[in-house]
Amino acid sequence: MSTLISGSTGDWEVVVGLEVHAQVRSESKLFSGASTRFGAEPNSQVSLVDAGMPGMLPVINRECVRQAVKTGLGLGAKINRVSVFDRKNYFYPDLPQGYQISQYTRPIVGEGSLRIVTADGERVVGIERIHLEQDAGKSMHDQDPSRSLIDLNRSGVALMEIVSRPDLRSGAEAAACLRTLRTLLRFLGTCDGNMQEGSLRCDANVSVRRPGGELGTRCEIKNLNSIRFLQQAIEYEAVRQVEVLEDGGAIIQETRLFDADRGETRSMRSKEDAHDYRYFPDPDLLPLELSEDFIAGIAASLPESPDARRNRFVAQYGIGEAEADFLVTEPEIAEFYEALADGRDARLAANWLTTELFGALNRAGLSLSKSPVDAGALGELIDLVADGTISGRSAKDVFAEMFETGQAAETIVDARGLRQLSDGAAIAALVDAVLAEHGDKVAEYRSGKVKLLGFFVGQVMKQTRGTANPQLVNEILRGRLAG
Ligand code: MN
Repeated sequence: MSTLISGSTGDWEVVVGLEVHAQVRSESKLFSGASTRFGAEPNSQVSLVDAGMPGMLPVINRECVRQAVKTGLGLGAKINRVSVFDRKNYFYPDLPQGYQISQYTRPIVGEGSLRIVTADGERVVGIERIHLEQDAGKSMHDQDPSRSLIDLNRSGVALMEIVSRPDLRSGAEAAACLRTLRTLLRFLGTCDGNMQEGSLRCDANVSVRRPGGELGTRCEIKNLNSIRFLQQAIEYEAVRQVEVLEDGGAIIQETRLFDADRGETRSMRSKEDAHDYRYFPDPDLLPLELSEDFIAGIAASLPESPDARRNRFVAQYGIGEAEADFLVTEPEIAEFYEALADGRDARLAANWLTTELFGALNRAGLSLSKSPVDAGALGELIDLVADGTISGRSAKDVFAEMFETGQAAETIVDARGLRQLSDGAAIAALVDAVLAEHGDKVAEYRSGKVKLLGFFVGQVMKQTRGTANPQLVNEILRGRLAG
């Protein structure tokens, strides 16, 4: 599938690079002890450092450094033993210091890569760098049109800015890249990836060029807060640029915003260059030096990556690749599956989880963490089918009721009398009664009308309200009719 855009003057190639701001999972901020909890009262989590009070000194949070290194290692990236914090100077009311502490020429993490899977196959996307920086506060203009309010709770929260190379060639690829990165961050436990709460935000640098030609002038689309918007914004922006160029115009380097309601990007401000920020090393902070031991300790405790886990699922549990891909989209799903597969038929477990449970969750609009049926409860249901206590058919009804009421499988099975009748002698007695009642049909069967077996099975099932073990019923019927 080609990702080129065909214009009236020929084909155009889209070139995209991402800058992802990922909020570091940490109890406290990058340079202060204030809490990072989401949803607190405005300005209730602000230390004097975060408020930019004169004379306050920043102190680096070791946990945030650890998380950035962990993320770098998860991306197979070079960890820089020495990195430097710089001041990025600009004025904005929600930035009380008058500068953001960030990293510029010497970031904590250097080059790495991320493997993504798209409809066109596998791609490896280059990661240029990750640097640590502070978040700004939040300006609120909507509550009262006569004034703007500032909430500094987010001021000073640690962000990892993860910068990709311009290796992406479509909105769909960019979406796959962000999705894969978010999954990785969640598996590493270094960012919760929650885009609604703003803990993962994405800027996209978009340009177009003749296929394989020189890079065009780019526009930066700021603060995309959903994967779907990222894709839509890139697709809109690429077509806009092609139209400008084909009309003989030029692309102006600028910052643009995506209007989700109208599905279009629009100009926000002309793009500032790095020199506008007057970066210089922050004199309040020493260069950050990491020991080999510190890095090695983090490397040793690195959790299994989503890729590794997916491959292990295929090998260890014998499930399909597409199923395994789905099971590693979230750490919670992978953990649920492992708990469910433990000591059971792993393929059956995968099938119950992906088809029945996720079907019900999707219909109810719930995430797995809100599921009324946990791995233990679902496992008990699967066991009841496996040991013949209930039939596969009744299991689906039992599951529906478990999902509805949160009751245990056995409770429902008993209340509804669904225990499968697997007592051979009892079934044989029922079979004999049915055959005695339908002597004419028995004669027809014996003279060659073997299709009637279904009729006899149906009669026995009816007598037991569907609870007779169908395999046993078939077996016994065949035996009796042959005699
Ligand atoms: Mn940034």
